[in-house]
Amino acid sequence: DRTTCWLLGDQLNPDLDVLDDADEVLLIEAHGFADRKPYHAHKLTLVFSAMRHFRDRLRERGHDVTYVRAPSFGDGLDEFFAERSAGTDGDGDAPDLRLMRPASHGAGDRLRELVAERGGSLELVDNELFWTTPADWRSWAGGEETDIGPDGAADRGYRQENWYRHVRRETGVLMDDGDPVGGEWNYDDANQETPPDDWEPPARPTFEPDELTRETHAWVRERFDTWGNDSLDGFAWPVTREEAQRALDRFVREGLPAFGRYQDAMVGGEPFLSHSLLSPAINLGLLDPREPVRAVERAYEERGVEPGAYDPEEHGDADAGATSLDEFGDGATGSGGPGNGGEAGSDDPVPVPLNAAEGFIRQVIGWREFVRHVYREAMPELADANRLEQRRELPPAYWDGETDMECLSEAVGHVREFGYAHHIERLMVLSNFALIYGANPADLNEWFHLGFVDAYHWVTTPNVVAMGSFGTDVLSSKPYASSGSYVNRMSDHCADCPYAVSRTTGEGACPFNALYWDFLKENEETLRGTGRMGLMYSHVDGKDDAEWAEIRERAARVRELAAAGEL
Ligand code: FAD
Repeated sequence: DRTTCWLLGDQLNPDLDVLDDADEVLLIEAHGFADRKPYHAHKLTLVFSAMRHFRDRLRERGHDVTYVRAPSFGDGLDEFFAERSAGTDGDGDAPDLRLMRPASHGAGDRLRELVAERGGSLELVDNELFWTTPADWRSWAGGEETDIGPDGAADRGYRQENWYRHVRRETGVLMDDGDPVGGEWNYDDANQETPPDDWEPPARPTFEPDELTRETHAWVRERFDTWGNDSLDGFAWPVTREEAQRALDRFVREGLPAFGRYQDAMVGGEPFLSHSLLSPAINLGLLDPREPVRAVERAYEERGVEPGAYDPEEHGDADAGATSLDEFGDGATGSGGPGNGGEAGSDDPVPVPLNAAEGFIRQVIGWREFVRHVYREAMPELADANRLEQRRELPPAYWDGETDMECLSEAVGHVREFGYAHHIERLMVLSNFALIYGANPADLNEWFHLGFVDAYHWVTTPNVVAMGSFGTDVLSSKPYASSGSYVNRMSDHCADCPYAVSRTTGEGACPFNALYWDFLKENEETLRGTGRMGLMYSHVDGKDDAEWAEIRERAARVRELAAAGEL
């Protein structure tokens, strides 16, 4: 019997083992989902263009590929099965399909039913595009799976740091004879600086849209109602595996050295800083997550320096390929590693500080793998968890970017323009504001899901509902809530903002401030006793009635203005 390997749109890797003994490959471009919500045009273009490029690449490699375009998977399977019963596979038997377990909750079972209803069979195998398996997670977590109650409380919580150390030990990444390289597991303390005014981040790598991407984009524009920038300007994402590998090389060579130090910074007019911009490619399967981790580890082995030993402030302006980081060209270790193989004029061995390498690796094998497993366990309750019972609609500024708040307008602007904002904008501006404003976590999840080029249900839901909105305590013991002082410390936005970050109350005070205190007061019953909130509540206790009256008045005013689109 012939075996058909069915690959989904986020499993676009031609080197998968699951392809080895497949007689043919099935790809279904099911696009009906995009009729239901206004997705970012770049997101739809990216996914569909990457699928079409992948189809062509597989054919070039000699695979027999059936590519079906249909509104839904059911319709796509109908077409595929109709072709088969017409005897195109020679024997007329219903096909046996094999599929890597989809990342999205319940999708595996649903697809198996769809296939069975049409008389075929669907075998689900482990998803190779995650480094760790459900069995790895179970053996680490032990005991029973977590359950989220109707009140949003999880009956057991998981902590990323413990998982991260476990995965480091198991994979041996950045390990030295059973101990973490450098002696510490985590160098986050060195990763909280902001760059000086004259520092220029590396240029964003651009992958010019080719004919197929242009065609796909034109179809997306015509076919769907989209949100955000609907021109191709600013679309520079890798759509093939080769482009994704080049993006990785570029990051390791140019972005990685300053990645750690400025990882949490926000700079006006700079959406990308030293971030890798690899999540769209990793989440589509164009890169296997082991690849960026191993490349960064190798770069550290070849040209690593102590945490903080390399100071990007002295070596800024990494414009266009050949960088002024050449200044380091003579002194540092080796060359020719993954970070040095990319493009001409780039064999300068820029040092890789340990805090940068460790910081990046933690994001991928710590956070990314972690949220995937938390999602698996905590669904379906996770999607609607709302521990703080927050019900407000998202303010219109999330849709139109119209607000005088500099930080919010920048972050929403990045999403509208590129379908991307970096981690701290996502966590400490976009979700922090929604959290203390009182937005419904499920609405915020939907907004992230449709607006970001790297968004899939399995990754937004734990990040937005659990981490960002504290809809449940399954992955953190306290909410990521902060006043304007965090944004002020980590960015240059407040200096350009008409709101005064130094003030909490009265007209013109930074909206984050009153909302923050009001949020703590409002949710006191749930939050006071949780995790590490003691210090915050000692400040709450230090405010007298008159102060509270002003705070609550300002918070109410901010909410009113935000809801009216006038903030
Ligand atoms: P870098 O800063 O260069 O980080 C390197 C890699 O680490 C990323 O490419 C990504 O693969 C991984 N990573 C880091 N943190 C996380 C995390 N918390 N969860 C999963 N992977 C992580 N990530 C998505 O991939 N898709 C999303 O839709 C998404 N939504 C988010 C929503 C919120 C509210 C928050 C707080 C985080 C979200 N993240 C999401 C995680 C993280 O912000 C993005 O992975 C990261 O910003 C992607 O940009 P980058 O590739 O430049 O990342």
